[in-house]
Amino acid sequence: MQTVGKLMKVFVTRRIPQEGMKILSAAGVCEVCLWDSDEPVPRSELLKGVQGAHGLLCLLSDKIDVEVLDAAGPNLKVISTLSVGFDHMALDEIKKRGIRVGYTPDVLTDATAELTVALLLATARRLPEGVEEVKNGGWSSWKPLWLCGYGLSGSTVGVIGLGRIGMAIARRLMPFGVKRLLYAGRTVKPDAAELNGEFVPLDTLVSESDFIVVSCSLTPETQGMCDKAFFSKMKNTGVFVNSSRGAVVNQEDLYEALKSGQLAAAGLDVTTPEPLPTNHPLLTLKNCVVLPHIGSATYSTRGIMSALTARNLLGGLQGTDMPSELTF
Ligand code: NAP
Repeated sequence: MQTVGKLMKVFVTRRIPQEGMKILSAAGVCEVCLWDSDEPVPRSELLKGVQGAHGLLCLLSDKIDVEVLDAAGPNLKVISTLSVGFDHMALDEIKKRGIRVGYTPDVLTDATAELTVALLLATARRLPEGVEEVKNGGWSSWKPLWLCGYGLSGSTVGVIGLGRIGMAIARRLMPFGVKRLLYAGRTVKPDAAELNGEFVPLDTLVSESDFIVVSCSLTPETQGMCDKAFFSKMKNTGVFVNSSRGAVVNQEDLYEALKSGQLAAAGLDVTTPEPLPTNHPLLTLKNCVVLPHIGSATYSTRGIMSALTARNLLGGLQGTDMPSELTF
């Protein structure tokens, strides 16, 4: 589809909450070309749909690389992603071409932190196993030694990547009676002082924490960071939770570590690939709880993300401020 009259072409790679679509149509500056499905746009359709576009509204599951940028051509002024993570975009190439990028920080922090806490509790207290036992008749009586797990009270929690979401997770966990908060990352976080958070080397965090929560961004440095060596340093009563990106974890190493009892349990909201194949070895383990990447999935958060993504796109199209522009 080409530009019609003065309207700029926008390609939207998925059905998104109506809040965003309303903003785009009310602006009257663009013609929206929508991949009208809840499923990802096939690569060939993405390459077709983006042709001649001035704006691209994409999701974290769309790989925005040189091929997509070339297919879009020189009109492309802005890419607005419905996510806070931006590891799916070739930022160097995007920068070279002078394309602006919008993303959705802050608005999904609370929802993602809440989900991470839910996942941590579900994993540590074995909720999916318990629910299953109720349904399959495994619940024979109250048994002192049955379905015991690990509690937060008096524990040490280690957060890897104490950014917006990491800090929000820590704030929610401390009232459970956590004794020590450790964090690791690239820089000291002044906010951590309010929780007496201790900035420590990654190795210290891994070996001293009862609960490890990963909430860093996916970068070349963090890719595969949680591997055999990492898991071998964990306490064997330790619980590992990842709500950042799947590729931070070496899943084969995690499987072996869980199977051999090197750590107690793991909860993952993110995997590689997504969806995780239903025959994946991790899904055979009772001590691994896997969720389908639903960190930000509350109705209100998704609506707000959609609206912000649309506003970012419009700012980029019109050459004005974007409410959340990525600086890179
Ligand atoms: P953020 O505020 O930028 O936080 C990212 C943190 O990662 C920063 O504190 C950063 O530390 C840290 N980090 C970077 N490199 C690191 C390294 N080598 N080792 C340890 N920490 C490192 O971003 P956010 O809004 O909290 O989001 C964090 C991530 O969560 C996103 O990138 C996304 O992948 C993921 N996410 C997942 C969901 C979900 O549905 N599960 C939802 C939203 C976001 P420095 O500041 O010291 O560099």
